Amino acid sequence: MPTPANPFRLSDDVLPRRYHLTLTPHLEEATFDGYVEIDLDIVSDVDAIAINAVDLTFYETILKRDDGSQRACSVSIDEATERARISTRAKIPAGRATLTIRFSGILNDLLTGFYRSTYLDPDGLSQTIATSQMEATDARRAFPCFDEPAKKAIFDITLIVPEHLEAYSNSPIVSEVRPGDGTKIVSYAPTMIMSTYLVAFVVGPFEATEAIDVDGIPVRVVYPKGKADLAPFALEIAAFSLRYFSDYFAIAYPGDKLDLVAIPDFAFGAMENLGCVTFRETALLVDPTKASRVEVERVVDVVAHEIAHMWFGDLVTMDWWEGIWLNEAFATFMEIKCTDAFRPNWKRWVSFGISREMAMGVDGLHATRPIEFDVISPADARGMFDLLTYEKGGSVLRMLEQYLGEALFRDGIRRYLTKHSYANTVTNDLWDALEESSGEPVRDIMNTWILQGGHPVLSVEAGSISQSPFSFAPASGESSIGDHWQVPLLTRTIGGSEITRRVLGDASVSVAPGTIVNAGGWGVYRTAYGSSELAEIMANFSDLTDLEQATLVADTWAATQANKVDLADFLSLCLVVSTSNQTATWSVVTEALSTLNRIADDAQRPLVQASAARILRGKFLELGWDAKDTEDETIPSLRAQVIGALGGVGADDAIRSEALKRFDAGDLHGDLASAVVAIVASVGRDGDYEEIFRRFKQASDPQSEQRYLGALSAFDDPELTRRTFEACFSDDIRTQDAPYEVGALLANRVNGLEIFALLQSRWDETLQRFPIDAHSRMVMGIARIVASEIQANEIAAFLEANPLKVGQRTVVQGIERLKNRSLMAARLAPQLVSILEAFTA
Ligand SMILES: [Zn+2]
Repeated sequence: MPTPANPFRLSDDVLPRRYHLTLTPHLEEATFDGYVEIDLDIVSDVDAIAINAVDLTFYETILKRDDGSQRACSVSIDEATERARISTRAKIPAGRATLTIRFSGILNDLLTGFYRSTYLDPDGLSQTIATSQMEATDARRAFPCFDEPAKKAIFDITLIVPEHLEAYSNSPIVSEVRPGDGTKIVSYAPTMIMSTYLVAFVVGPFEATEAIDVDGIPVRVVYPKGKADLAPFALEIAAFSLRYFSDYFAIAYPGDKLDLVAIPDFAFGAMENLGCVTFRETALLVDPTKASRVEVERVVDVVAHEIAHMWFGDLVTMDWWEGIWLNEAFATFMEIKCTDAFRPNWKRWVSFGISREMAMGVDGLHATRPIEFDVISPADARGMFDLLTYEKGGSVLRMLEQYLGEALFRDGIRRYLTKHSYANTVTNDLWDALEESSGEPVRDIMNTWILQGGHPVLSVEAGSISQSPFSFAPASGESSIGDHWQVPLLTRTIGGSEITRRVLGDASVSVAPGTIVNAGGWGVYRTAYGSSELAEIMANFSDLTDLEQATLVADTWAATQANKVDLADFLSLCLVVSTSNQTATWSVVTEALSTLNRIADDAQRPLVQASAARILRGKFLELGWDAKDTEDETIPSLRAQVIGALGGVGADDAIRSEALKRFDAGDLHGDLASAVVAIVASVGRDGDYEEIFRRFKQASDPQSEQRYLGALSAFDDPELTRRTFEACFSDDIRTQDAPYEVGALLANRVNGLEIFALLQSRWDETLQRFPIDAHSRMVMGIARIVASEIQANEIAAFLEANPLKVGQRTVVQGIERLKNRSLMAARLAPQLVSILEAFTA
């Protein structure tokens, strides 16, 4: 809906129908020239036309009317609202018209809009590319446009590029002309009607796989020269995903072709440009024989996610940016569904429990936010790309799907996509479609999950279940946690598989003895069993499904952090769940051990190590170092997790010496590689830092590059973490990676506080240098610091006095976590020794 009060929104009086756009990038000069003709419907007489533009220079602007008359226009720029006001001397009458603009712009190095990046190819030669990242509101940096998702149009794109480079856009090439001046003029077929944020251009020394035909659609993987051997796997999952979604949605793929393009410098994980999806290299290029299961899985996830968007996002698009959550939550949900169909043995829905837990870790803070909230400015829209949009949103959709049933849910999705193809929607359109397919009050249920922050804890006592809001600590001021929810409640009884479905509202409901709450483990809520109920469940622990087990452990750890469960009880539970073979369960256990290790001082540390050994050692003895042919496909990741924790927090001598031996022999592959490199960093022998740095710079695939880069943040020696911090401001670490590396340095157990001081001293430079969308994720590293109350307050004071333009809410959440952790540390410190002594006795 148009909100005239919002100065950032364009009016609906002037609507674009078709763009004829020609761009000539000059890669060496880092500029581009452009020419655009925009066919317009002028709905009513206007004084001027407002169009979005940022950092563009307008040379000649002409308005041609349908009657053949044409007028030169004057242009005034309003930087604050990122708009140009185009006017002629007279009023502009309603009717059809064409606006032509000759303009130029800069190929920036900020990874937004139309940008330039340079990288070293495998031969050590510097290469330059120009590429685009328009979402959310940066198409306006590439060409003047009506840059709002509901202002859909057809795009006829032409790129004029140096002859020796390749050029890609959303559609297939229809003509390529070489005028003989060293350039080629590449024209693309008209796109379907779509939003500006989905337009893409990629220019550079790329190669592509042969296209494979997927039910009539040519699909390719495009990659920087020299990386052909890393492309075939992505092609396989792309073909699988395309078929999977065509079938699930019962609508054919809406584009003409599908290119998946690996970009050497990319701010996000990937971007769903119709027909020309762009990825950072780690999310697309992989050698499955060298990478770990988790790294391969990431490629599957991200490719599936982006292809799901071709329908959900590209074909049917949110009306305005507050709807971005639905776009991303749904693609996250579909990504897991598709990966689960691609490799059922990976048990992807169980391991997704890890992501949900991360989101609930934020959502239990008073600084959480509703999943959907009002978006006024572009900065508000940018701030939505966080855990609450993707992981909580995706989890809430999964909870709804499991409540409605998979078939009815899918029918509702088909109904929604069919009805709104090529158009725009608001969230309620989806609830309406799901209500029609299921007959359930979907809108009432979902509004309680979408329009308020937080989630409930369900207390089970004396045969009845009731809800109250969950939080990690009492509120000290305002809270964004809501007060009651319509909870889609699934229960079953111990030993039974039949699931009872109902909605839990304000009134408590009674249940039979031996009831398992959150059956299946899909609910986005915590469960707190009374002591007799819990005892009965624990006595039947093996009856719980994998995800039910993981959920029980996660809920108990959350309650421990919230000071509702004793640490000693949580540690006993860790022993019980050590039979589990799921990383979702073990990730809670290892995270808890790592927290204790941060809380402990050096004198207490041996007790933490002994506790870790008590919990982990049995599982290690069962799994050993080397994979067995007969083991489940979830085991290799688990083995890496157990070895990593035992060699890290556990400081186990035998594990450490074996890890060092393997590292020295260069015997690193697949699943164990990250764990081994992390252990090497935590031991920190002389020369290991330099060796890891050398391997980082010489890595031949993106996964090992990231693995070594990650380890550079994990040394205890402050001199070494300082060196890594410096490298983040040099050519050694690309801008796409540097903010995440600084975030990892902030999370360094020993040196986090010193790194924060360094960051503070280079604050302005940091914000200028790193992509704006990554700033908040960088600062989020403070969430893992354990500090004194005074130190925590100092960090908070600095970050509050220097708010980020994008993602400040994420920073405020980081501050709350930092303070919670520091309070927990203060609370546990006096009892830690006696608890751990009792546990290890
Ligand atoms: Zn997405």
